[in-house]
Amino acid sequence: MKKKQELYAGKAKSVYYTDDPNKLILFFRNDTSAFDGEKVDQLDRKGMVNNYFNNFIMQKLEENGIETHQIELISDQESVVKKLDMMPIECVIRNIATGSLCRRLGVEDGLDLNPPTFEFFLKNDELHDPMINDYHIRSFGWANDAEIEAMKILTFKVNDILSKLFSDAGLLLVDYKLEFGRFNGNIVLGDEFTPDGCRLWDMETRQKMDKDRFRQGLGGVVEAYEEVALRLGVKLPE
Ligand code: ADP
Repeated sequence: MKKKQELYAGKAKSVYYTDDPNKLILFFRNDTSAFDGEKVDQLDRKGMVNNYFNNFIMQKLEENGIETHQIELISDQESVVKKLDMMPIECVIRNIATGSLCRRLGVEDGLDLNPPTFEFFLKNDELHDPMINDYHIRSFGWANDAEIEAMKILTFKVNDILSKLFSDAGLLLVDYKLEFGRFNGNIVLGDEFTPDGCRLWDMETRQKMDKDRFRQGLGGVVEAYEEVALRLGVKLPE
């Protein structure tokens, strides 16, 4: 697999073309950002930990019938993925209320959400990823009815699979963001699933084990990611 020119440099990953038009290489950088890129830093080992973490989660999802873009991990910070036609949409499920939801709706932080709630956001840093609904998605042609339905069903299915996986490791899956794309007529899970894009709390102490440690300046960011990886059984290089 030959790495060709860069297609896109995001806030945390760089995406490269390969000699196969249907495949890309994702390079997980050590860059960390929050608040739409306002707060940035370099965290040693983060790219590597996230690459292994994401590979592990994507494999678990595939084993449970979710089609993902992940093909294989090819180096500590790189994976080969299927090249998707990404939809500019973020799908969010929340099992516990925290963060922007509490600010928006004035609800208590830490409230269990039963049933969990689902939100769409437009992927647009300049506009600070505004919340959108099914009607916006249809009116602006970001996805059609069948794709909207598929994104919801898949995001909830991921919730069942991963809530159990994390709870077996003593962790609460508080909320998470997924991005989907089109591939050969199917809706396929793309981007990443790492502690950068979800919230994980220790089940006993409710200690934060995710990117909120960076957002809130709590320190021990990568250490927390590595602790989560260890509990899940993700094998990391020394
Ligand atoms: P951001 O764009 O939010 O700063 P990243 O730094 O993670 O995020 O950049 C990765 C970019 O690559 C994102 O725009 C994401 O939508 C895109 N991407 C992820 N997976 C794929 C894929 N399989 N095919 C095409 N694009 C992808």
